[in-house]
Amino acid sequence: MVRVHPDAERVLITAEEISRRVKELGEEISRDYAGKEILVVGILKGAAIFMADLVRCLTIPVQLDFMAVSSYGASTESSGVVRILKDLEENIEGLDVLLVEDIVDTGLTLNYLRENLLTRNPASLKICTLLDKPSRRKVQVKVDYNGFVIPDEFVVGYGLDYNGRYRNLRDILVLKREVYSGGC
Ligand code: 5GP
Repeated sequence: MVRVHPDAERVLITAEEISRRVKELGEEISRDYAGKEILVVGILKGAAIFMADLVRCLTIPVQLDFMAVSSYGASTESSGVVRILKDLEENIEGLDVLLVEDIVDTGLTLNYLRENLLTRNPASLKICTLLDKPSRRKVQVKVDYNGFVIPDEFVVGYGLDYNGRYRNLRDILVLKREVYSGGC
């Protein structure tokens, strides 16, 4: 069933499509890491819902940890400045780490996180994103697993917010431009 929120221009990806793709990603990741245990690191808050669904589709043993970084705030443009607001609780040296992020856009956030985590000497580090907006890339970053490639539109739902709102929506929606551009 397609649900259209009043602030949305249209539904880009339905909850059913997300669920199918997350299951596929879980199967692929479980195959690739067969026989290993991994530490799944979720980037708060955007990746929380995706991560919760993804880890339940994994058949290998997992541990979870979280980081929070500063991102757009109330704007829809990346500042390019990444700041760690919450760091990992555990030492990741020697661990197989899977970094889970909601979306890769300019690539600045993931590039920063990747370089930061690599200095801590994990056994391996891979990246899984739900969405990829390749048209806006400023820094090349290798994404090992991705759910959907999307066009250059500002999306919300399934963990993604605008100004803290819409994270609980089940579908991924293109937000109406007037919602974030002051009504013009
Ligand atoms: P990047 O550093 O790759 O430009 O941006 C990554 C972060 O920007 C994401 O974690 C997310 O918080 C935010 N972002 C980028 N594009 C979108 C979008 O279309 N919708 C929302 N809600 N956030 C986005």
